Amino acid sequence: MSEVNVKLKDGVGAQMPGPVTVGEALKRLDRDAAKQALAARVNGREVDLAYELNAQNGEAIQIEAVLPETRDGLDVLRHSTAHLLAAAVLDLFPGTKLGIGPALLDDPRYGFFYDVITPRPLTEADLPVIEKRMRDIAKRNLQYRRDEIAKSDAIRIFEERDEPLKCALVADKGSEIVSVYYIDGSPFIDFCLGPHVPNTNKLRAFKLLSLAGAYWMGDATQPQMQRIYGTAFFTPAELDAWLKQREEAEKRDHRRLGRELDLFSIQEQYGQGLIFWHPKGGVIRQQMEDYLREELIKRNYSVVYTPHIAKRELWQISGHEENYGDSMFAPTTIEEQEFRLKPMNCPMHIAIYKSQQRSYRDLPQRYGEMGTVYRAELSGTLHGLMRVRGFTVDDAHLFCTPEQVRKEIDDCVDFAYQVLKTFGFDKIKFELSVKGNDTSKKWLGADDQWAIAETALAEGLDGRGIKYERIEGEAAFYGPKIDFKIEDAIGRLWQLGTVQWDFNLPQRFELEYIGEDNKPHRPIMVHRALFGSIERFFGVLIEHYAGAFPMWLSPVQVAVLPITDRINEYAEQVANELRTAGLRVESNLRGEKIGAKIRDAQMQKIPFMLVLGDREMEQNKVAVRERSKGDIGVMSLEQFKTEAVELVKTRSIDNASFGPMGLNQIASPGSTLTNSGGEV
Ligand SMILES: [Zn+2]
Ligand SMILES: [Zn+2]
Repeated sequence: MSEVNVKLKDGVGAQMPGPVTVGEALKRLDRDAAKQALAARVNGREVDLAYELNAQNGEAIQIEAVLPETRDGLDVLRHSTAHLLAAAVLDLFPGTKLGIGPALLDDPRYGFFYDVITPRPLTEADLPVIEKRMRDIAKRNLQYRRDEIAKSDAIRIFEERDEPLKCALVADKGSEIVSVYYIDGSPFIDFCLGPHVPNTNKLRAFKLLSLAGAYWMGDATQPQMQRIYGTAFFTPAELDAWLKQREEAEKRDHRRLGRELDLFSIQEQYGQGLIFWHPKGGVIRQQMEDYLREELIKRNYSVVYTPHIAKRELWQISGHEENYGDSMFAPTTIEEQEFRLKPMNCPMHIAIYKSQQRSYRDLPQRYGEMGTVYRAELSGTLHGLMRVRGFTVDDAHLFCTPEQVRKEIDDCVDFAYQVLKTFGFDKIKFELSVKGNDTSKKWLGADDQWAIAETALAEGLDGRGIKYERIEGEAAFYGPKIDFKIEDAIGRLWQLGTVQWDFNLPQRFELEYIGEDNKPHRPIMVHRALFGSIERFFGVLIEHYAGAFPMWLSPVQVAVLPITDRINEYAEQVANELRTAGLRVESNLRGEKIGAKIRDAQMQKIPFMLVLGDREMEQNKVAVRERSKGDIGVMSLEQFKTEAVELVKTRSIDNASFGPMGLNQIASPGSTLTNSGGEV
């Protein structure tokens, strides 16, 4: 018997008699990790815990546990649960033909699926039954077992089982020896590379979510299948938390709220992934843009406008055609010249920079634009406002000298921080992506340039005392970057803007400025966007606020609701006075009961409702309801106007400061308000 020389990543090692499974070897070196392990890595390759280690000329074999609460661990867990799902379906519906069943890690909606053709079509009502069977199988603690057999044998096995799709898959993808997996004690066999968990006992927190149609190989000429979606987590508590968040997310879905609040639409007959901003969504966008332009001017940016289309040559010089061509709309020809829609604004701003010779005295140049870009995204990847084919970036490009760049970065970080706070996001996660020691990527730019760039970005964050995560090897090939992610009201993280260094485009476009030494130098170029895509940011805002926007963003800020027709004239007078003060006001003069009018305004999530009766009219007062507090009392029209305008002017995030003592004091529980508008 030969000795196997095994070592852990941290260098701890041992000799043990071989052959030995990696699970056993782990147990000897790190009992804790072995107990938790879902699978293992052997010299970096993922394998089952039952994988056998053999002596390799005395060379040390590096082993590592794939643990829960890691991405790889989740992958193994979810993929193994997909197998469990297939086993349960086969058990309940003998004769089922199986397709494929991968784990999904990046789709926030699902964790895995399996494609099946059952003898009768499945309905949603079958899902709890299948899930129950999965639980029953899991409890029996069955083993996942791998077997390596000849390709021809695998095809024979699947033929005998009348699984034509699996036969096709083995024939297409299998090498001479293929691996198949059993869940021993269940009717399931799969053609799969693995790895999987060692036994079904590891699967304790899963849920089936929904059914959808699917085609074999995603090809509409192939057999139609049903796709069963589910998810799985390491613990029941994690699953519960996720399900709660999902329920909350469904209530906040921006596509639904977009329809209900009449904010925007996507009209498939005119093109998927293209956004129509309706009047109420348009108001919000205008507020976003106005705010940002105000800030650009304060921060001494130049606001520019550039074409949406340019000759192909531009995209050839920029490298977009070469590196990004698949995401661009195809060229269109005018008078034998080919043009393409812009997927990014950067080359356009470069064209402005290059339009004249620049001296060091002209720098920095800061160009900001609400730049609309077009990307040929595949229809399957489109999602509401979040992933679209045409969108507008609050884009800016900075051109500066090496001496100036540090201050520019500082300002970008400060700017980002302020923008996100203004929109009500105070949980911001900053990530700094650097080159690190990764030599597998082809990095552009010299090491010392990278060091300067990375230091400037890091200092920009450090200087403001911002905590951030440094991610090695995740920089773009053309430079390091800072990304901002915000946490929304229900704890989800959204990637928004970026501050990105660029060694590439200044070189491709041969950008220059004349230095103090009278010689040409290459300027530093920084890309930065704070909202990122305005469409996507809008989607995030809708979901974060569940459609109840802060006063300054609300499409309608005040609803004026007369109790009877008698009051209509006074209502119009109130509405007009508030409009003159700059507020967005809607008066509801329909002959409905006041309760119905209030409910309607409440459904539209209008921040303030003014309920007007005889007494209010006589005294030139208004009875105020706030959408989340209800009645907050009667006040003079003048006072309401002043307070409301103040909320808008200060871009206040909530209405808590409203009223002479603030809302929280006024609307104490049990306070009774006796005014004519009080009853709903
Ligand atoms: Zn598998
Ligand atoms: Zn850019």
